[in-house]
Amino acid sequence: MKTAIGIDLGGTTIKGAIIGETGVCTHITRVPTGADQGGRHVLSNIMDLIGELINKSGRDASSFVGVGFGTPGFVGADGMILGGAENLPGWKGTQVYAPITERFGLRVSGANDVTSVALAELKFGAGRGVQNIVCFALGTGVGGGIATDGKIYKGTHGMAGEIGHIVVETDGAQCTCGRKGCVEAYASATGIVKMAVDFAKTETSPFAAIAHETPAEVTSKMVYDYVAKGDALAMKVHHRMCDMLSRAIGTILDTLSPDRVILGGGVMMAGDVIIDTVKTYTPKYCWPAIYERCEIVIAQMGEDAGVLGAGALALEEFV
Ligand SMILES: [Zn+2]
Repeated sequence: MKTAIGIDLGGTTIKGAIIGETGVCTHITRVPTGADQGGRHVLSNIMDLIGELINKSGRDASSFVGVGFGTPGFVGADGMILGGAENLPGWKGTQVYAPITERFGLRVSGANDVTSVALAELKFGAGRGVQNIVCFALGTGVGGGIATDGKIYKGTHGMAGEIGHIVVETDGAQCTCGRKGCVEAYASATGIVKMAVDFAKTETSPFAAIAHETPAEVTSKMVYDYVAKGDALAMKVHHRMCDMLSRAIGTILDTLSPDRVILGGGVMMAGDVIIDTVKTYTPKYCWPAIYERCEIVIAQMGEDAGVLGAGALALEEFV
């Protein structure tokens, strides 16, 4: 079986593993990112992790088809980090491919972390059996990944898939990117909490009382625990979130006409209630014939999706 080394770079942890072409994932290893010590230090940690994985495998580096890595932000075609990774100061401007190839003799393929996750879903998860998918990762922010004709779509500069920053409301809620009204400001865990605390000022319900008294303790999970109880405030937040998310989904459907839209990330722990409500709003925002031919489903890949997708990048590109 052909294998690659997968690296999933996060703000606090770098996760590495050996990935087989059937989706088997072994030797999972985590090391601290060391983001506060700058881009060169992060790259050095990545390279040490690759060395450790090769040692653990007991094989020669040359037996791997290559290294794949997923990272926050954008990876240019030559392996230069072009930005978009604010949680990794100094990572922008780092050349990733050349040093790894120099040290290990392996080719490298990198992509945005959610783009890597989209590849994992396409090959091994909720995207199996179709060619065109769009993934939304609803976490602290909203990330995106696109696959068309069975391949991930990176865009010319590795910047495609920033669907979390589709503006769904003119002069709307403040987004982390500096603009207003991005879908991220409504459909991320952070956005959900902000809406709950904000609406609690005028809403009356058991959850509103809590959110008003102790706003710092509100979490998106708490919002969805109260959605399950039918709480008026929680339902108002939920509907606003799903309406805004559906505007972005509708835009994407009209643009790409995918087979499936896959919703994942921590917020989707709430499950079917979000899918069901999104299905009531999305038809308002796209062409009916396109909507009818697209499924909206929950992501299937678990916490290893990032590292698995990273390894799959190399397996797709170099086999
Ligand atoms: Zn934004």
